Amino acid sequence: MKIIKRLTFLFLMILSFIACSQNTSKVDYFASNALGNPVTGNAGEYYKGVTYVSYQGALEDPYVAAYDHKTKTWVGPFKAGTSLMGKDKSRKIDNHGKPTLVIDKEGYIHIVFGGHGGTRDIGKNPLGNYHYGKQMHVVSKNPLDISSWEVLDNISPFGTYSQFIKMDNGDLYLFYRHGAHRSNRVYQKSTDNGRTFSAPVSYLKTKQIEGTKEHPVIYDSWYTHYSKGQNNDVIVSYNYHLCKGPKHDGERHNVYYMRFDTDKNEWYNIKGDKLTLPITKEQADNETLVYDTGDLWTHNGIVRLDEEGNPHLTSYEGEHKGLKHGAEKSIVHYYWSGNEWMRIKSSGLPVGAKGEMEVLSSDKISMLISYKEENMGEVALWESTNGGKSFIKKEILLQAEKKNFDLSNFIRNAKPEGKIIIAAKDKSGNGNVYLVGEKGVVKR
Ligand code: ZN
Repeated sequence: MKIIKRLTFLFLMILSFIACSQNTSKVDYFASNALGNPVTGNAGEYYKGVTYVSYQGALEDPYVAAYDHKTKTWVGPFKAGTSLMGKDKSRKIDNHGKPTLVIDKEGYIHIVFGGHGGTRDIGKNPLGNYHYGKQMHVVSKNPLDISSWEVLDNISPFGTYSQFIKMDNGDLYLFYRHGAHRSNRVYQKSTDNGRTFSAPVSYLKTKQIEGTKEHPVIYDSWYTHYSKGQNNDVIVSYNYHLCKGPKHDGERHNVYYMRFDTDKNEWYNIKGDKLTLPITKEQADNETLVYDTGDLWTHNGIVRLDEEGNPHLTSYEGEHKGLKHGAEKSIVHYYWSGNEWMRIKSSGLPVGAKGEMEVLSSDKISMLISYKEENMGEVALWESTNGGKSFIKKEILLQAEKKNFDLSNFIRNAKPEGKIIIAAKDKSGNGNVYLVGEKGVVKR
């Protein structure tokens, strides 16, 4: 029996060797151990010939892989850290601790992950409330090497929705919500390659407001999206969450915009008026409102600049109709004309689509979006030549039956052949992760 087993093993080894040498074993995904909704906004970076990508893998731990553009080879994925979440099988997949990735000036790779507001046993959260997990920071032991990692205990554990933004001067900004829903939005800054961070600075304030009979407890709360703007600016688009208790739902409204000039350490609205931090709901309404959506519920899309430096925003808007996160939403496009905010309900785009946007000129706008048509999950490039009024489908990049595709933001400093990280999941919650660019999927 032993000999047969050994011969079978040998035979399989030879088969797999032949398959590899003939290049027939190439697959279109670079990893197959993704879990849940595994990618967050800023999850990848191109740096010195290599694209580094991160995602949430088995047991909700962060994983990192790297693609060498010259040799067309993959390294990894390697497990970069251990999340406190994802280990208790009685809990649902949490999805709030997805990794965000950045590379510092010396080539060390940093990942922040694992947070969903933290728990009371970690200590007192001075800027909000608690939920689960612990925001953690790991760094590669060596520059440009994703195979070994160490923990750096230098950021607040009470974080969630963590996002790294890197400035041209190398300063690192870590943006996140400092706890569960009833917590301020904050950032921490590092000027020494992520070895130390400033204390958290609150820029959007949570506060309790007057309740109603149905909802005796109500707090102002915020959801945000960040991009790097011009020079050393961070641009932020956001919406307002009416955080109700004890009966809670996902009610979110409106569209807001502001700009953080990190050189001057000042925040501005679109007209250039200085803002005083932390911004309250009243200030946000008076000074930073793009559009009051009224009864419509919103999810944040993307904020990008056009060639003149004017911001373009997307927002996903729809009627609530009693569904958990509202009815299927449609992409609405906003841009600053120089004098006022313009609102375009783009025609042609599929209902429920979400994803990235590139403003190539005042007329030409392209969207890389994910959506479902009937039973078919699809990621495709859509293009407008009339400033976003209407879009047509240019190219399908990924398509699969009964699957949902989840998109990162565009990878930092991305090369055209590897612009975005995309995950596909089926009902089980497990899935594959892809690196996708203008020519389609980067195989391995
Ligand atoms: Zn809430």
